[in-house]
Amino acid sequence: MIHIAIDGPAGAGKSTIARKVAAQIGFIYVDTGALYRAVGLSILRAEVKPDDVKAVMKLLPQIHISLRFEDGVQKVLLNEEDVSEAIRTTEVSMATSKVSGIPQVRDFLLSLQRKIALENNVIMDGRDIGTVVLPDAQLKIFLSASTEVRAQRRYKEMKDKGQQANYEEVLASIRQRDAQDMNRKVAPLKPAADAVRVDTTDMTLEQSISFLRGIVREKLGL
Ligand code: C5P
Repeated sequence: MIHIAIDGPAGAGKSTIARKVAAQIGFIYVDTGALYRAVGLSILRAEVKPDDVKAVMKLLPQIHISLRFEDGVQKVLLNEEDVSEAIRTTEVSMATSKVSGIPQVRDFLLSLQRKIALENNVIMDGRDIGTVVLPDAQLKIFLSASTEVRAQRRYKEMKDKGQQANYEEVLASIRQRDAQDMNRKVAPLKPAADAVRVDTTDMTLEQSISFLRGIVREKLGL
């Protein structure tokens, strides 16, 4: 199987770019953040605090997460319920970033991620795909952009969806998530030593997609 790992901070454009490139080369796109978000949603629903490690661990055996692909689009099922939309709130983002620092949560999701990659050609995006989940991926990309540009993109995305959004709040929450994701002890967000680093600060989405498509063609001949 061929594995492409794309890691990077929130709002770097990973999911949109990875989805487009995967469709162009006929790979399955796996958004691993959605798996962590399903855990985040579960703990919010159970009214468990994300930093209460014991309570989170107690809840894990009751959580069953699976992915389904419909026309290449990933759906996340939490105990058979489709939560693909419900996991996209700021509240879930913040709880998820906290709970994803717990080693047992990461172990819980690791085998699911590896199983999908064992059976499919994948572009998988996340924070630790190139470093932990798929260390032997044939291509690793670390995608980043300035904090302000990432916040502007997220703000625009929320506005476009008709959601309430305040730029300063979006910026603050991105800063907090970056800090949590980069400073945790297990599987922190960092580029793999052999990752190709791409900064999309000055690129449009279309430019980023064709840039990554170019890297895939050059490095893998696809
Ligand atoms: O990618 P997304 O922003 O949806 O991820 C939500 C959160 O899930 C991240 O802030 C991070 O804490 C966690 N995550 C992770 N490892 C991954 C993917 C996501 O820790 N591979």
